[in-house]
Amino acid sequence: MKRISVAVPKLSGKEREYVMDCIDSTWISSNGKYITAFEESFAQFCGVKHAIATNNGTTALHLALVALGLQPGDEVLIPTVTYIATANAVRYCGATPVLVDVSPGTMNIDPANLARHITSKTKGIIPVHLYGHPAEMATIMECAKTHDLFVLEDAAEAHGAEFMGKKVGTFGHCSTFSFFGNKIITTGEGGMVTTDDSELAAKLRLYRGQGMDPKRRYWFPVIGYNYRMTNIQAAIGLAQMENIDQALAERKLIAEWYNEALAPLTDQLILPAQASWAKSVYWMYNIFLRDGGESKRDAVMQALDEKGIETRPVFYPMHVLPPYKQTGAFPVADLWAQRGINLPTHQMLSKEDVVRIADALSTALSLIKL
Ligand SMILES: *Cc1c(COP(=O)(O)O)cnc(C)c1O
Repeated sequence: MKRISVAVPKLSGKEREYVMDCIDSTWISSNGKYITAFEESFAQFCGVKHAIATNNGTTALHLALVALGLQPGDEVLIPTVTYIATANAVRYCGATPVLVDVSPGTMNIDPANLARHITSKTKGIIPVHLYGHPAEMATIMECAKTHDLFVLEDAAEAHGAEFMGKKVGTFGHCSTFSFFGNKIITTGEGGMVTTDDSELAAKLRLYRGQGMDPKRRYWFPVIGYNYRMTNIQAAIGLAQMENIDQALAERKLIAEWYNEALAPLTDQLILPAQASWAKSVYWMYNIFLRDGGESKRDAVMQALDEKGIETRPVFYPMHVLPPYKQTGAFPVADLWAQRGINLPTHQMLSKEDVVRIADALSTALSLIKL
């Protein structure tokens, strides 16, 4: 039987044509028409003034923190449940990621938990729109305003998601996205920073290109980085942007298929929540076991694997990983993360695949009683 992967990119638009154009024209490095076109298309999609492309989502985060002026000794609040790049980017600046517990269900940073972590060293907050569900931006922005903090949205998993009808990537002082192969849209490896602040945009461009003065070649007023995207990556990205609305519609449909197929199992499973103010883009469709812990979760994943279905555990919270290990109390993260499973979520899935996954899950749950 066909093996079902967790994530597969869909490259059925003009990706090939645009990449061949790069090769035929010899514009394969980090100059070229596709970079500008991709940046403009992405800015327009989000509804922001500026989009600055980078070579991946992690460098987008680091670049944003550099441009925001983060310094050694500073502190930044981040959710403990995230992909590790969020925490690492803070460390690259010599600053400290301060871990905050999350809300049940979405596992997004809990706005009610922010204030008690703020100290005289706190400079900013990085809400992560985890697995495609937006964080609760209203309270986060209000808290940031009260304490004079920057907000950097990590929207790596949430292109097109909306908070109260407005797209993510437009709330914070700046926001970052990833175009890794398993994200909502891809450039192979790639990233983007979005902002409405023209001064910040100029800084982002300066630091992205080794810090070279845009008006004076080989004059470097600051120490920058080479975080540029290539024209080839941007060519793929532009083709992906031409189909992004379809990509979002297909993901929504897949989530609906799962909701329907898994409805009979909700005495044992919790299905992904969508807050009343949220439009999730379902980067990953997650399920959570009501009973048992990590060992039962892993046994369920093993049973699915034996039936040719790949799944992944939801991210380990940062506070259990060696570089960020700490014994603070994160009761919600501890409970939810160890019971969560990413089911296959990508545009190449058919309704039959989803039904097959639901059947396999039903069998696994009936056999595994730990
Ligand atoms: C994927 C991801 C990143 C990093 O993106 P890369 O392109 O893989 O470097 C950062 N934050 C989150 C939440 C992610 O999921």
